[in-house]
Amino acid sequence: MTTDVVIAGGGPNGLLLACELALAGVRPVVLERLPERATTPKANGLVGRVVQALDYRGLYELFSGRTGPPVPVPGFQFGALPLDLSGLDGNALYALPIPQRRMEELLEQRARELGAEIRRGHELTAVRQAADLVTVDVQGPHGRYELGARFLVGADGGHSIVRKQCGIDFPGVTDRSFTGRSGQVTIHPPVAVPGTGELDVPGAGRFRPATFTRTENGLFSYGMFQPGLYRVAVYEWAPSPLGDSAAMPLEELRSAVRRVIGGDVPMSEPADGQPPALRRSTGANSRQAGRYRHRRVFLVGDAAHVHSGVGGPGLNLGLQDALNLGWKLAAAVNGWAPPSLLDTYQSERHPVGQRVIMHTRAQMALLSPGPNITALRQLLTELLCEQSAIRHIADLMAGADIRYDTGPAGPAHAMAGRWMPDIALRTGKGPTRTAELLRPGRPVLLVLTDRAGLADAAKEWSDRVDVVTAATARPPADAALIRPDGYVAWAAGAGEPVSAAELRRALPAWFGDPATTG
Ligand SMILES: Cc1cc2nc3c(=O)[nH]c(=O)nc-3n(C[C@H](O)[C@H](O)[C@H](O)COP(=O)(O)OP(=O)(O)OC[C@H]3O[C@@H](n4cnc5c(N)ncnc54)[C@H](O)[C@@H]3O)c2cc1C
Repeated sequence: MTTDVVIAGGGPNGLLLACELALAGVRPVVLERLPERATTPKANGLVGRVVQALDYRGLYELFSGRTGPPVPVPGFQFGALPLDLSGLDGNALYALPIPQRRMEELLEQRARELGAEIRRGHELTAVRQAADLVTVDVQGPHGRYELGARFLVGADGGHSIVRKQCGIDFPGVTDRSFTGRSGQVTIHPPVAVPGTGELDVPGAGRFRPATFTRTENGLFSYGMFQPGLYRVAVYEWAPSPLGDSAAMPLEELRSAVRRVIGGDVPMSEPADGQPPALRRSTGANSRQAGRYRHRRVFLVGDAAHVHSGVGGPGLNLGLQDALNLGWKLAAAVNGWAPPSLLDTYQSERHPVGQRVIMHTRAQMALLSPGPNITALRQLLTELLCEQSAIRHIADLMAGADIRYDTGPAGPAHAMAGRWMPDIALRTGKGPTRTAELLRPGRPVLLVLTDRAGLADAAKEWSDRVDVVTAATARPPADAALIRPDGYVAWAAGAGEPVSAAELRRALPAWFGDPATTG
């Protein structure tokens, strides 16, 4: 049996990649070793540019249950320091609360509807590569079998077998200096303040949901995801002698909270019968795959990088890996990828992963105990009154400081390599916005001037590039060539000369040779 693309792992990143491939007409096979989706709580939501990226696929409304485009948050935290974003022009820190399990359900449903084949209870056990084929061994519900593919993607999480089988190293650090404890609990009034989501803890003060509180003894945070059901997490700066595998009683979580905040939070198992999901874990890894590609094999998501979860950056990074790789891999399967396109996955995404590891480690340092850290926090709090400093940190956390190399595709307009903003447009078919143009997952040449030559220049690529002529109030460029993942491959005009010849150089550099007709 052979197929075009096999994806190992049906977590959020593998499933979004499956959707992207299927949207582009490629039917991937997803191998997921679990027969049923795990109930262990993981992510509670998404933070950063990824929320807008999902809107560019029409998934924001589905995930959030809201209508209209996402709105950035007015405030956030960096290492438990307040980040006031209300004065920023063009803040890219978006937040979308959604349990990871629900996100996976929605992505799996979409992937299946688009034509992806998802095999649950099928575990990849080995990988072999030949010149034009990669073969995987699979242990399925009815025995072992082999599957050949043109490409394999390891989306199989931090312990990735694909990464290990390909001999890709995973350098970094394992920090075992702290213990995290978490659980889903019911917290009753009067400690749970009705209607506010706050906790009023006698002797310790008031706490707000979705914020971290650092004390000299550790770190405390909680969220309320449905009325009366709280997800509590607490960290202390010492490894637990019990390790990670011994069962954790509820009282252990309550005692740890008491030690860290200096007050008692009475808690009981969830009243509605949901599992308390009590978990003790030691330390965190900050590691990144030495390379994201090994011949016909690619890594996305946690298989490529693991880091502390502070600030919730994991899926902002992983889902955008999937969006970056999806259209490129589909282009290779569909036969029009320029020779170096697949290599840009590594050159574009590896540096982004490095920056996430950098800022999560910096945040962990800021959360550590001790008077020197307290002094450093005071200094940073002062600096974080400056708009330029707030913007720097907000862009870093949102992943909005990314500028991909647009290489030989032409001299860089300020927009080239950057995220295409979601602007309101008027076309012959009525009002629209950038996000809506990108929903089919195809490249778009957006022409914002009446120069017909620009639209004509892309005619020969009409099988794979949509040309849209539109008007907008303050055009950021005369024309922008937008990649399916929302980044600008080429732009020109609005103060700089525009050349159709330049556009004709950019088109094949990103989207291959024009189709031959006749
Ligand atoms: C408690 C917790 C809270 C978190 N909170 C947040 C948050 O709020 N926001 C955020 O952005 N991130 C958060 N994260 C991180 C986020 O959950 C991960 O980044 C995300 O799960 C990574 O997705 P993935 O698809 O790369 O890998 P995974 O979710 O690990 O999925 C990998 C899949 O591959 C399957 N698999 C593994 N090996 C094989 C094999 N050999 N064959 C077939 N299938 C295989 C696994 O069963 C699994 O389904 C949190 C993580 C944890 C643990």
